[in-house]
Amino acid sequence: MSKQEISTYKVLRRHGGFYYCEHPEGGEIECKLKGSFKKDRRTTNLVVVGDHVKLDFFPGQKFKALLLDVCERQTVMRRAKGYQRSYGGRDEREAQALIANIDQVLLTIPVKEPDFHPLLLDRFLCIVEFMEITPIILLNKWDLLEASDLEYFNKIKLSYEKCGFNVLPLSLKSGQNMDQFELILKGKTSFLMGPSGAGKSSLINSICPQLDIRLGEWSERCKTGPQTTTVTQIYPIGEKTYIADTAGFSQVYLNHIFWEELRFCYPEYRHLTCKYQDCLHQSEDHCLVRELVREGELDAERYDRYLKLLEECTKEQPWA
Ligand code: GDP
Ligand code: ZN
Repeated sequence: MSKQEISTYKVLRRHGGFYYCEHPEGGEIECKLKGSFKKDRRTTNLVVVGDHVKLDFFPGQKFKALLLDVCERQTVMRRAKGYQRSYGGRDEREAQALIANIDQVLLTIPVKEPDFHPLLLDRFLCIVEFMEITPIILLNKWDLLEASDLEYFNKIKLSYEKCGFNVLPLSLKSGQNMDQFELILKGKTSFLMGPSGAGKSSLINSICPQLDIRLGEWSERCKTGPQTTTVTQIYPIGEKTYIADTAGFSQVYLNHIFWEELRFCYPEYRHLTCKYQDCLHQSEDHCLVRELVREGELDAERYDRYLKLLEECTKEQPWA
């Protein structure tokens, strides 16, 4: 085991002025930020849930420590709600960080109840790709499909796989691919994203009944005063396996994305070189994306949805 692995701890939640880290032997370590650490760095995103931190334990205390430092974040999930403009320089663009070090987002999209909309799936995919986190598409409630629906949904599955996504048809009710689902979770920190009613809580509770949580809910406890706090927490559910939860992604508009960045949220467009480097793949001449759509190489319907989502993005450079 490397030295770093021995001395860093994962922040599971925050309450009041305290951060609670996972104790390797079970239980939580109550931590307070070291004063000098606070002074050195002027940002609101100093320590967030999911951070790996260095601690200095109080003498003789196993569950109380000072939080000394934060390790570099591999990924950051930020509030998908426009950028905050409270700091100077390029940091202006830094929206509130909610969770750090998520390995993958499991996009839980039901094929029925509520109805399946590819535009909603694309919207979620853009939000996840924009954060540079790997999405995995779970097409949940597959048991609700009738024989006549199968052709459509198999086509959907293939077309997203062709774009480069991992797609798993899933049903908690019939048990279909639940073993695959557990394998996907193993050894990773995952966040389940998707519309309300998608089955996120049911999936997690079926694997970890002792948790008994409602994922993505606003907590009544925290609705004190004019500001509603988002409850963000990470649950250990197995060896090096965690589920992260926050209600910060219940709204999925793309107005926090600058429209020139949207094309990078599409893995199948990302590496194509059009005549113009800044091509939006909208109506420009010699656009390779449009050419490949015309030739049937790229999904035409997904491209039409791209144009729709492009209109929703902000056209003002957030860092200008
Ligand atoms: P959440 O809002 O995403 O957390 O969704 P819930 O876990 O509350 O599930 C919403 C509803 O979908 C519940 O009534 C579940 O019983 C139902 N549900 C969850 N998974 C499945 C499934 O695989 N098949 C079917 N038919 N229903 C499911
Ligand atoms: Zn183009």
